[in-house]
Amino acid sequence: MIESRAIERGPKTVKSLLLLATTLTVLGLALPCSWPLAAQTAPTAVVADPPVDKQSPPGLVMFAVPSHGVELDAWLYVASGAGPHGTVILPHGLPGYEMSGDLAQSIRRAGWNVLLFHYRGTWGAGGTFSQSSAIEDTAEVVRFLRDPANAAKYHADPKRIVLIGHSFGGFIAGYEASHDPDIKAVAMIAAVNLGKINADPKEREARLKRWETQLHPVRGATAKQLFAEAERHAKDWDYVQWAEALRTRPVLLLEADDQNHADMEALSSALREKSAVALEQVAVTTDHSFSDHRIALQSIVIRWLEKLETSGSEARKEHSTRTKVVLLGTGTPVPDPDRSGPATAIIVDDRAYLVDFGPGIVRRAEAAALKREIPAVEPGNLKVAFVTHLHSDHTAGYSDLILGGWTSGRTVPLEVYGPTGLQSMTEHILQAYRIDIETRTNPEGNQRRFPDGSKVNAHEIKPGVVYKDEKITVTAFLTKHAMESYGYRFDTPDRSIVISGDTNPVEETIKACNGCDVLIHEAQPLELLAKMPESVQSFDAKYHTTTAQLAELATRARPKLLVIYHTVSFPPGIAPPRLLQPKAGADALYASPEMLQKEIGSRYLGQFVIGRDLDVY
Ligand SMILES: [Zn+2]
Ligand SMILES: [Zn+2]
Repeated sequence: MIESRAIERGPKTVKSLLLLATTLTVLGLALPCSWPLAAQTAPTAVVADPPVDKQSPPGLVMFAVPSHGVELDAWLYVASGAGPHGTVILPHGLPGYEMSGDLAQSIRRAGWNVLLFHYRGTWGAGGTFSQSSAIEDTAEVVRFLRDPANAAKYHADPKRIVLIGHSFGGFIAGYEASHDPDIKAVAMIAAVNLGKINADPKEREARLKRWETQLHPVRGATAKQLFAEAERHAKDWDYVQWAEALRTRPVLLLEADDQNHADMEALSSALREKSAVALEQVAVTTDHSFSDHRIALQSIVIRWLEKLETSGSEARKEHSTRTKVVLLGTGTPVPDPDRSGPATAIIVDDRAYLVDFGPGIVRRAEAAALKREIPAVEPGNLKVAFVTHLHSDHTAGYSDLILGGWTSGRTVPLEVYGPTGLQSMTEHILQAYRIDIETRTNPEGNQRRFPDGSKVNAHEIKPGVVYKDEKITVTAFLTKHAMESYGYRFDTPDRSIVISGDTNPVEETIKACNGCDVLIHEAQPLELLAKMPESVQSFDAKYHTTTAQLAELATRARPKLLVIYHTVSFPPGIAPPRLLQPKAGADALYASPEMLQKEIGSRYLGQFVIGRDLDVY
């Protein structure tokens, strides 16, 4: 309850009410969640017991979890049914007067096991307390749940561990999830940001006073010592820094009208900036303990867990999936150092199939091989590529793909498929590099043993199936761009993926996707287009897609995940060419992730993400 005091009322209350009216939004994740103030639509698990299951009834078991020489008191609410069940760990606050028993019971009724425990040195548990030891204890509890013997005993699925914590417990939940990539999802409820509790001297004093009066159940640490410990960890305990680690997993941020509100907002902004794939943020006007919104709290959490379960079957499939999408380059002709030229790899098992080869492709491929541990995209392993159209931003990496792939070990010709003109482009590139190729293949040449690696078979295509092997079928469809252009659909044993290339919205894309797993599509923000010269606006209107058009297209195409790429944008400091001089401001042509989030999110209810180089889906 240390964090339980509601903040002073006043102007902030008004702001919070406004916030409630305007920010009960889901960011990234599918549904347009809004928490109605009346509880009339509370989920069943909040208001009703599940059917009685005599074979596998629910139960309560107590056990000790060993942690650093101490036996932690732990107890598990076992869900009804044979399972295996996912398990929610509910790390409690400090010292833990609010154990959220009501929330635990609702979660169990929703079909999850719920584990609670006391940290070392609290509530009579052995050892002495510190914030670091609570972090360690939580990791031990996770380890305990993953032990195959325990998983079997408690009908628990060790792959579905979710952390949900309130206040100090919210900090603990976030820490554990950000440091353990196998935690499935995390919910932080009015979480205290320990990395920042010393930042504002006035805040610090008020907080310290409260802590000093409420630590009776805690042994081995005074409030002052805990603050000093937090000071030493100011950097690694600032939860805003965890956004990068959390961005790939479902995150629920549940904010109250309390002293932690600003920190929670900062974390949600950081997650949005990093295009978190499934961020859900809900602000409720209530005190730190949600005293007058307990049903709301349970309903929000249960709905979020239900969504995890429905997307869970997909996520589990994804876990064992044979097919991956790797974004090697998400850029445009703009020389943005963070966005390489357009290039995407579809990976099936150990094979990579490329779409487009913008500048930078070979180095990004090596980066993906190293940093994402995907050996299929080692440059020497790149053997098949499809090109959407012959614009330079999509093809300026062609020579590097041919020659860099060869010098990296490709021993067979590169197979490339694309529109009319591809053969001529290929012949001219090989001609341009005649001296290089001859030197490397002459009797002294260091690649004379595998001369075929320098060769290319260029196939000019028509709409329809253009490629098929035992792992993949690739179908080309016509798109509408400034020249002959194609989109592609990839069908693999477990996934369907559609990529647009550069195009105006076309029916063919909608037909090709039609509920596909992943749609990768270009988009240009309206706000940015409005600042462009007339000539660019009319070109884009004919040959590219606005965010509003993409929202409409995706609503009809119904992909399970929409990935946005190829957005013209000049990040701060990168000056646009004279032709594009915007009507206003030096940085006016920057399409920030927030701008895209807002423009797509306000028009499209499906799951979407703003792609970044080296993202894997
Ligand atoms: Zn382009
Ligand atoms: Zn183009």
